[in-house]
Amino acid sequence: MAELINPKKTLDVIRENDFRFQKKFGQNFLIDAGVLSHIISSSEISKDDCVLEIGPGIGTMTQALCETAGHVIAVEIDGNLIPILEKTLASYDNVSILHKDILKVDLKALCHTYHDDKPLKVVANLPYYITTPIIMELLEKHLPVSSITVMVQKEVADRMKAKPGSKDYGALSLAVQFYSDPEIVQLVPPNCFIPRPTVSSSVIRLRCYDTPPVSCQDEAFMFDIIHAAFNQRRKTLQNALSSGLSISKTATVSALKDLNLKEDIRGEALSLSQFAALSNSLYSEKENV
Ligand code: SAM
Repeated sequence: MAELINPKKTLDVIRENDFRFQKKFGQNFLIDAGVLSHIISSSEISKDDCVLEIGPGIGTMTQALCETAGHVIAVEIDGNLIPILEKTLASYDNVSILHKDILKVDLKALCHTYHDDKPLKVVANLPYYITTPIIMELLEKHLPVSSITVMVQKEVADRMKAKPGSKDYGALSLAVQFYSDPEIVQLVPPNCFIPRPTVSSSVIRLRCYDTPPVSCQDEAFMFDIIHAAFNQRRKTLQNALSSGLSISKTATVSALKDLNLKEDIRGEALSLSQFAALSNSLYSEKENV
């Protein structure tokens, strides 16, 4: 049974092991059984799945994952948590505890070793200081991952899900929506964690696409355009692409015209499919970038 998911048990484990929270590792441990069970059900895992958990902490979510999945790979950076995890997970034979920095792990090799190259499911209460690099690594590198169900800062979840024209819309929204279908599963208040974070959190599930929903000739070039557009989001697109990527204003204006878009439009107004079409149309300018 996933027995750690209550405040008393969590505090007992922390005290018995003389564990000191390290702020630099974004350590806020989940203590709410309702939230945990919602994360597990929305991550759609079964005994056929191999789950990658990033940052297991003292093993609260790991216990629930071990009971639901075929195998769990738990990657934890904090060496002080490893002996604790070895105790709290001692009764499970389907977990591999790895003492590593997730940003330095070869995830393709991990998938090969533990799941015969079949896609993994990622489930985590992410350390907030590296949420975006972790998500981008999982999505951009075309790793074998079928879904990512994670607790993140509420405002980051809102940015992932944002649509054109909203203040939250930006490069992260477009990257997440190019590679996956995001759905916010639950809003989680600070009192569901020890220690309490200063911000609210959301659980978001990203179902990864086999094929992106829009066709673009050159993915990297489309993202160069997206980054240039949002690096100077108050500028018109023609000015942002001219100063950021040295694409001539004439070329951008002509491409915008072909797409029936106004020549003074800003990047924040373009949808993912319009960015894809724009990058296809400007592809001949790529050698100047
Ligand atoms: N999963 C636990 C829970 O829900 O109670 C802990 C979640 S806590 C928000 C984030 C966890 O990620 C901590 O255990 C922290 O030490 C770990 N962590 C932080 N940076 C990491 C990294 N680069 N690689 C692996 N784990 C990391």
